[in-house]
Amino acid sequence: MTTMPGKRDYYEVLGVGKSASADEIKRAYRKSAAANHPDRNQGDSAAEERFKEAAEAYDILSNPEKRQLYDRVGHEAFTQSRGRGGGGAGFQDLNDIFGQFGDIFGDLFGGQMGGGGGRRGGGGPRPTQGDSLKTRLQLDLREAAFGCNKTVEMTRDELCDTCDGSGAKAGTTPARCDFCGGSGQVVQQQGFFRLQRPCHVCKGQGTIIRDRCATCTGTGRQPKKFSLDIKIPAGVDEGMQIVARGQGEPGEHGGPRGDLYCEVQIKKHPLFERDGSDLHCTVPISFSQAALGTQFEIPLLDGKHLLEIPAGTQPGEVLRLRGKGMPHYQTQRKGDLLVEVQVEVPRKLSGRQQELIRGLAEIEHKHVSPHRKSFLEKLKDLFVAGEESEEKK
Ligand SMILES: [Zn+2]
Ligand SMILES: [Zn+2]
Repeated sequence: MTTMPGKRDYYEVLGVGKSASADEIKRAYRKSAAANHPDRNQGDSAAEERFKEAAEAYDILSNPEKRQLYDRVGHEAFTQSRGRGGGGAGFQDLNDIFGQFGDIFGDLFGGQMGGGGGRRGGGGPRPTQGDSLKTRLQLDLREAAFGCNKTVEMTRDELCDTCDGSGAKAGTTPARCDFCGGSGQVVQQQGFFRLQRPCHVCKGQGTIIRDRCATCTGTGRQPKKFSLDIKIPAGVDEGMQIVARGQGEPGEHGGPRGDLYCEVQIKKHPLFERDGSDLHCTVPISFSQAALGTQFEIPLLDGKHLLEIPAGTQPGEVLRLRGKGMPHYQTQRKGDLLVEVQVEVPRKLSGRQQELIRGLAEIEHKHVSPHRKSFLEKLKDLFVAGEESEEKK
């Protein structure tokens, strides 16, 4: 047996003995391919070389005829048939490796790396997570303040009962796609980029269905209704999402289910407006109530509150009721209720009302309030200033 300079013994490359069985060789190759896989060692050219070297070794040792020839002649045996230069019998193109052995080492990644697309052999592409679903939950402000349970009723795709998700007619199984070797992925090298695309023959499934299941027409899925109770925490706000993990559609090739996202929508309340944890409302009172002070009951989200409006309350004044707002959804600390006082001026007056207000007006002329007085003085100053500037012209 001859050895070539710079070329390692194939048994040494795979770390197996000369008498290793086909199974041992396969296992050793899978281990090496997994460790040096370009997906895991991006930019590591030494790992890529080891990956190519292992593929080359496996290519020879997995074929009984080639193995025999190698055992007898050594590396020299293959330099003629596969071209000279560089790696001799080796693989120059990763694409060739994935094309030839993708299904042998591919399924190593299914379990370990999870999610996303990718190649996977040993029966099909890598498992992918199912689609997530989205729905809206309508709450009123009271439900948002105290939390509640809501039942979501939706339709989602489930694995077909008849074919158990395979899409194949009862008694048949999907056949492995010959084009991609069952990996569902085709790898192309373009310059520096290694592009991985779903196989166009099997549409990324890795399998081809010859006889379709009649129930699902080969899709492997069936829409089914389901209902789910969702617990809404106290204090949720408009646009928040409550996620029910694993309540989406089932994954492909044994992958996990997607999630169910419930977006919270809160109906407008007739009295309260929400601003984070605070609630705002406006209460109209009459001029005399504002002047003399009053009390009245305002409704809260739970029960009522006797609101005290002190004498002399000004229009637009805000009374703060601490802790009567919304709870914060994380801390559950409650915000405030802010009551804005609106003083209403009557549009129509009875004869008696007119009489009294006129009486009030007469008194006001004699007793001008300090606030009003300063306003009148400012007004007078403005007129005087205006006249002066007129005179200067
Ligand atoms: Zn079916
Ligand atoms: Zn295919």
